[in-house]
Amino acid sequence: MEYKIAVISGDGIGPEIIEEAKKVLLKVGSKFGHSFVFNHVLAGGCAIDATGECLPEKTLSICCDCDSVLLGAVGGPKWDDLPGDKRPEKALLGLRQELGLYANLRPALLFPELSDACPLKPELVEGGVDLLVVRELTGGIYFGEKGQCETECGTGAYDVELYTEKEVERIARLAFNMAMKRNKKLTSVDKANVLESSRLWRRVVNRVSEDFPEVELSHMYVDNAAMQLVRDPKQFDVIVTSNMFGDILSDEAGMVVGSIGLLPSASMRGGSFGMYEPIHGSAPDLGGKDVANPIATILSAAMMLRYSFGLSEEADAVEGAVKEFLKAGYRTQDIMTEGMKLTGTREAGDRIADAI
Ligand code: NAD
Repeated sequence: MEYKIAVISGDGIGPEIIEEAKKVLLKVGSKFGHSFVFNHVLAGGCAIDATGECLPEKTLSICCDCDSVLLGAVGGPKWDDLPGDKRPEKALLGLRQELGLYANLRPALLFPELSDACPLKPELVEGGVDLLVVRELTGGIYFGEKGQCETECGTGAYDVELYTEKEVERIARLAFNMAMKRNKKLTSVDKANVLESSRLWRRVVNRVSEDFPEVELSHMYVDNAAMQLVRDPKQFDVIVTSNMFGDILSDEAGMVVGSIGLLPSASMRGGSFGMYEPIHGSAPDLGGKDVANPIATILSAAMMLRYSFGLSEEADAVEGAVKEFLKAGYRTQDIMTEGMKLTGTREAGDRIADAI
């Protein structure tokens, strides 16, 4: 089967980490008999240099024509003085908006080999942590009405948290489907004891759950969820939550598993199309030095195999190869510890591809 992937390498370490993810995908292709066609397009700082725009129309139309998008990272000091709406990072918002990507998936996977990187007590994470935060990405308080007003007590300011049934239903459905592909356990996080929008959220999630009788659903208040993530992260499988709660909880979950160079993500819109990218930025300090950790991007490619192409066995093979690489004691600079073997970006990609 042939899969068309729009590839946005971007800036800084973007091109280097993307090359390694492509290397791994090509190995998957040859081993499992698939063909991955890479369509390289420009976005971010390099697009500004080449076309004057951070997200050229051609990039969007090629992304729309492909089965999924693989993104490195954008931005860097060269473009830092441009006004906000002209900066490379604006391309990310444009891509999410134009491609209708309303769900952000952030897995937090703690490899037992890297348990030293986890700030929690070893007994809390023994055997590893493996959870997925599904965050609503295009609604809620970040997009609600906002403004300032004069009050008797001086100037006031407000941001409205508005969710519609349709918005909650689509993210809930997506999260239940994710839970079905994992351990069939879903925790919906809200603040239904205080917020009306959360009470609607909870009602709709309960309604959608009737279509997924196999999934064990529980509800948790966000303050408790923040506490439980550091008290007992292993209790979670899939967490679904609103834009702002997800923004905070996905970073907290990421911190539980340590290095930024290891964390992949996906943005989806229901159906199979998605955009896959590491959570880190373009690390301009490391660009061109063959030192960046490509694992977050390689694991993003594994998510693409699983969620966009339905290739679970192939995704398992990539994740297994990453585990094998770490188990064999190889480390890029960012996760290097005493007694381990230091590798560069390219060698890491070669070794992971070889292990598939
Ligand atoms: P960053 O994530 O690029 O870097 C933070 C720190 O982590 C740096 O010390 C960096 O060296 C390190 N790091 C990041 N990725 C790494 C990797 N793969 N391997 C090893 N070390 C890694 O965040 P920043 O420094 O705040 O931002 C740099 C640029 O990236 C800025 O222009 C910012 O706007 C942009 N940015 C882009 C995205 C994106 O494209 N999705 C996300 C965040 C930031």
